[in-house]
Amino acid sequence: MNKRPQYSKAFKALGVETPVLKALQAMEYETPSPIQAELIPHVLSGRDVLGQARTGTGKTASFGIPIVQQVDPQGRMQALILTPTRELAAQVLGEIRRLAKFTELHAVPVYGGTKIAAQIRDLGRKPHIAVGTPGRVMDMMQRNVLNLDDVRFIVLDEVDRMLDIGFREDIRRILGDIKHEHQTVFVSATLEGEVSRLAKRFMKDPVELNVSKDEITVTDIAQSYLVVEPQKKISTITKILKNEGPKLAIVFTRTKHGARKLAKQLHANGFTAKEIHGDLVQQKRERVMERFRKHHIPLLVATDLAARGIDVQGITHIINFDIPEDPEVYVHRIGRTARMGAKGIAISLVTPEQGPILTKIEMLINKEIQRYDLDGAADAEVDRSAPRKKKKKKTATPRRQDASPSGNASRAAQKKQGKVEDKRANAEEAPAAGDQSPQRPKRRPLFVKLPPRRPR
Ligand code: AMP
Repeated sequence: MNKRPQYSKAFKALGVETPVLKALQAMEYETPSPIQAELIPHVLSGRDVLGQARTGTGKTASFGIPIVQQVDPQGRMQALILTPTRELAAQVLGEIRRLAKFTELHAVPVYGGTKIAAQIRDLGRKPHIAVGTPGRVMDMMQRNVLNLDDVRFIVLDEVDRMLDIGFREDIRRILGDIKHEHQTVFVSATLEGEVSRLAKRFMKDPVELNVSKDEITVTDIAQSYLVVEPQKKISTITKILKNEGPKLAIVFTRTKHGARKLAKQLHANGFTAKEIHGDLVQQKRERVMERFRKHHIPLLVATDLAARGIDVQGITHIINFDIPEDPEVYVHRIGRTARMGAKGIAISLVTPEQGPILTKIEMLINKEIQRYDLDGAADAEVDRSAPRKKKKKKTATPRRQDASPSGNASRAAQKKQGKVEDKRANAEEAPAAGDQSPQRPKRRPLFVKLPPRRPR
């Protein structure tokens, strides 16, 4: 007797149909995650959605499923998915292709660092879905090889980053080029007031979802910190690694140079560690990521290039060798562990004067971070009231009407110019966010005032 296959009833109840249900079965997704349960029906009903969900909770499939279901295989390019980094674009593309496995849909990459000729060839084969980063997408549009005339779905993944000042003009141009009536789905782990206000300028009466509620940090992460003088950081991290014996860990540094140096030192101290940052050519970046994904490399020393959206199963530890100045970056970084309900450990090295940064992080996650006990190895005290070394300087630059307050004035002041460069470069030219490479020429920042939205 021919038995009908049993597809997930829970996904079916959300309106998901057979080809995608079949893919979900192959992917072993049985129950929708909270963001999927909320977002899928809205997108299927034609609404724009601005969604906030914790990192690692199935955001990709939440927009991937309804898009794959609604894109017409007979039509031309109908969906454009933009991410801030190539790594995230590659990962999202993989998920979309898995979801589209039992359809006639063809999804292609449009991100930098890989040979443009191959991508142009792919675009010539009448694909239906493009997943990319803003710079390469603009490039392809200018070359007239990427036609967005029929695009009906736009996704901005990690929308807070996408609407950062460095990307904003590109996004405005790309979205401004889409003439067809379309739906927008913007998602992110963090969505502060200003970004969500900006995002809404590109949307039509969006449904706003917040599946992360007050708990921004994934609850299954045991978070701790150590106070350590800068010169003791290497010996301290060595002790932590020996103490913890992590199966799979990412160690985050602030700069590319720092990542390179630390990977070398850890290697010298007997650990198998590889670096990943924007100074590596894309091919090398992908090779390192692939080996890490397969658990062939236990320790990845990374800049914030690897902080967002990257989904590698089985990461047991996140170690912040340099604590990030931006508390939201902290949330993104530690979200690489404890994916889909697994347990994880996050340990941060804090220098005595970084107390205020620690406090800001605790305020954002609404939780006190515990001190890590390492037998006196970390013997310094953190000064929570310490004034930041670099004070915000008043400049003649007028306050931008659309500038993101990002709750981080000191960082903005320190990096005013470099930030723009970094954010763009992370996706298109490779350096990671936060890197302050002295060799990089400084570009003038883009002060963009957005025009009113075009009527659709
Ligand atoms: P994301 O937040 O999209 O990066 O997804 C995090 C991880 O959860 C990925 O490894 C997905 O493959 C996995 N995942 C997403 N949705 C589901 C689901 N409904 N059931 C099981 N795993 C899922």
